[in-house]
Amino acid sequence: MKPIDPLQLIRTELRQLNAYSVADASGMIKLDAMENPYSWPGELLAEWQQCLSTLELNRYPVSSCEELKQQLFEVFGPLQTDLDMLFGNGSDELIQLLVMAIAKAEASVLTVTPSFSMYRMICTYVGVPCHEVPLTAEFELDLQAMQHAVLEYKPSLLFLAYPNNPTGNLWDPQAIKALVENASGLVVIDEAYAPFSANSLAHLAADHEHVLILKTASKLGLAGIRFGWLTGQRKILAELDKIRLPYNINSLTQTSMRFALEHYDRLAQQARTLCAQRAQLIQDMRSLPGITVYESQANFVLFRAPSGMADRVNEQLKADQILIKNLSSQPYLRDCLRVTVGTAEENAQFLRSLQTVLPIAG
Ligand SMILES: *Cc1c(COP(=O)(O)O)cnc(C)c1O
Repeated sequence: MKPIDPLQLIRTELRQLNAYSVADASGMIKLDAMENPYSWPGELLAEWQQCLSTLELNRYPVSSCEELKQQLFEVFGPLQTDLDMLFGNGSDELIQLLVMAIAKAEASVLTVTPSFSMYRMICTYVGVPCHEVPLTAEFELDLQAMQHAVLEYKPSLLFLAYPNNPTGNLWDPQAIKALVENASGLVVIDEAYAPFSANSLAHLAADHEHVLILKTASKLGLAGIRFGWLTGQRKILAELDKIRLPYNINSLTQTSMRFALEHYDRLAQQARTLCAQRAQLIQDMRSLPGITVYESQANFVLFRAPSGMADRVNEQLKADQILIKNLSSQPYLRDCLRVTVGTAEENAQFLRSLQTVLPIAG
């Protein structure tokens, strides 16, 4: 037999993809990935390690995570009896389960652009068309265009990030309500940034059978443990649960998440500190010449550099050991960069570096 080229076996659309790239961050101030910059105080770390030391790593983890679920209910409010939760290895995994579950021959997904890139990426992995409706120039929802897209494509799944990444804003809740009421399929409200947001639409899951709320521990300060949860109708989650790989939440993650929830007030306090720092950062950035700084309800700030300067801004920051996200080559984000809110000291260093590349005012 002729030797085969293994690459020829791989689906064409996958071979055309670029792998999700993660920048090398060694020695850098990391303001590119919306991580919480604070660690836990020493006594808490010791207590957490104590908890981990009781785990039996030779055993499979608990698959149902009932106790963890109860704790989440207690911390984030009681749910109605027909609502349940499904856990993912990060909320990315839950997005993947959702897309896999609806992947019938004619199915499609709808979202907006610019938004969280994983919606589109995961659709590509699974082989489901993903339609993206552009936001307005002010990054608001274009309700008319969205309604039109719903009628045209009849998407099985609509993803709305609230607040949106990478724009940081909250869309008009009335517009979202209108989309929910006229939806052709499931609506997933992705509240990854809920800890930093003044508003939540989590109540929509209680009022509408086809609405699911997606949350994650990542932005709250636990990006390393990979844990996300989806809240929605029990009967829908039960179907998704069938394609969840057994034991997707490992024992270290379960125990760490339970420990973190017992000390949730600390994480909430860190989130409040970051919100105060965000206000300061936005105010300081707005005093710099030549950049447009967008409002944010998340733990990052989107800004527009002077025309054609985004790459230079990014290079200068990198030279000063500061990593942010350059979005300027993406559609609808010309000249835009996104900086994660860090500690007061990190933000000050970012501002000092940014200032050196911007044109002198006047
Ligand atoms: C970061 C982010 C997520 C992914 O979170 P993980 O739980 O770390 O997979 C989901 N949605 C949005 C909008 C995000 O920005």
